[in-house]
Amino acid sequence: MKEIVVISGKGGTGKTSIVGCFAALAQNAVLADCDVDAADLHLILKPDIKETHDFSGGKQARIIADKCKGCGKCAEVCKFDAIALDSATQKYTVKKTGCEGCGVCRYFCPVDAIAFANAVNGQWFISETRFGTLAHAKLGPGEENSGKLVTLLRKKAKEIAQQQDKDLIIVDGSPGIGCPVIASITGADLALIVTEPTMSGLHDLKRVASLAVQMNVPAAVCVNKYDINKSNTKKIEEYANANQITLTEKIAYSNDFTAAQIQAESICEYTTNGSAEHVRNLWQKTLKILEQKE
Ligand code: SF4
Ligand code: SF4
Repeated sequence: MKEIVVISGKGGTGKTSIVGCFAALAQNAVLADCDVDAADLHLILKPDIKETHDFSGGKQARIIADKCKGCGKCAEVCKFDAIALDSATQKYTVKKTGCEGCGVCRYFCPVDAIAFANAVNGQWFISETRFGTLAHAKLGPGEENSGKLVTLLRKKAKEIAQQQDKDLIIVDGSPGIGCPVIASITGADLALIVTEPTMSGLHDLKRVASLAVQMNVPAAVCVNKYDINKSNTKKIEEYANANQITLTEKIAYSNDFTAAQIQAESICEYTTNGSAEHVRNLWQKTLKILEQKE
């Protein structure tokens, strides 16, 4: 079983459009949307949700009103200002969005009036799409621990691939270089980095490519909208060559990406010309890299 993870140094590079196309071209893969902080693969794949589960990324404090003596010690020691005196009830309460689950309040409460329970930070889903089964999720507003959720989704995608006897998983990974992208590429067979020909694109590419190298994950790069600045595209090519990173394909800027999204389609379903042809080439080259790795 092989796993391709499509990532980018920052959001908005066209990563998800490319994953949507890959899903259409592969036809027989299991899919995972691990860009959990800004999940939008569902806009192209229109999933039919079959399973819904709560996601808990950690614990959260809760004050047991009957036991609380109102001393205020918990509010005093909470470094996250997550406990406040409710002016209406004159009782101390934990703010749902502020608690980091550190447990300090519980340690200092003199009457053991603080309980801990799993916090519900979002939901994850198993869905059917026209291109195969999709594991995806929705985090609550301002919720964190998305690295843990990414790991969960990749695990579920692997289980589904085993159950369905499928040998390819395509993951829409998280952007950036933080915990979610580390969780996205750990142990993957290939990290395909999508970048744009801007100076910040090159800077972000360098950061995420060196992360992949550090994590021993094979990396390849593709330049989206390469024709909006060919001089910067050349710099990206030079960087890739100098660092033995395969530059797979250069995709031309095209309004077809937006037009396809408006119709909830991948560009490869929308048209066979122009940029769609480039993405098809990208897919073939990506498969070839995977084959060579075997
Ligand atoms: S420390 Fe304990 S008793 Fe004091 S206000 Fe907080 S929960 Fe209530
Ligand atoms: S668990 Fe930590 S963050 Fe949460 S309310 Fe208690 S002290 Fe504050």
